Amino acid sequence: MTGQLIIAVDGPAAAGKGTLARRLAAELGLPYLDTGLLYRAVGRLVLDAGGDPSDPVAAEEAARALVPADLARADLRGPEADRAASQVAALPGVRAALLKFQRGVALARGAVLDGRDIGTVIFPQAHVKLFVTASVEERARRRWREVQSGGLAADLAAVTEELRRRDALDLARAAAPLRPAADAVTIDTTALDADAAYAVALETVRRRLGAP
Ligand code: C5P
Repeated sequence: MTGQLIIAVDGPAAAGKGTLARRLAAELGLPYLDTGLLYRAVGRLVLDAGGDPSDPVAAEEAARALVPADLARADLRGPEADRAASQVAALPGVRAALLKFQRGVALARGAVLDGRDIGTVIFPQAHVKLFVTASVEERARRRWREVQSGGLAADLAAVTEELRRRDALDLARAAAPLRPAADAVTIDTTALDADAAYAVALETVRRRLGAP
């Protein structure tokens, strides 16, 4: 792939890919796009209109109407937004509309994108593909700590259950299921802290880009 530099960072929820992708983008001087926010914003737009996020007509209409300002909303996190995002993400019409959005944003200046299908569907020719994963137990512990540090009560068993549910939806859906691209480098962060995971990622990117 010639032209703008594209780095794909895919993986399941709470594996640490957002932190890692953001740091890579800063290091490489590239814009960062959290593509999960697109699905979250579409889900939120449907809920705002009183609709059902699993309704293909309402969700596709919201995806086509999405503008960058929708990604800056403060209410895109939390259980309701998580659920609505996974529901709209299973709809092929939504994915098709968001594919154009993602390619348009990333091809303007290059980008580090994090998501589920960046290396497989959105940019199969990405210069570097990372698949960042961790055990569901470790991902749940991280999400649980995050919720608690935000001052909210959280039950570890419930957080684990919710992650398993989202994993199952992402893995089983017919449209762009979560899976590593054949040429992705997998980084398992179960036993790595954020700095160690980042060091492995940066080394992989440099190697793939042929840097000394
Ligand atoms: O990454 P995040 O948890 O914010 O993503 C929210 C939801 O959006 C995920 O559960 C997944 O179903 C969906 N998603 C997706 N493809 C992406 C990014 C997110 O299907 N590239």
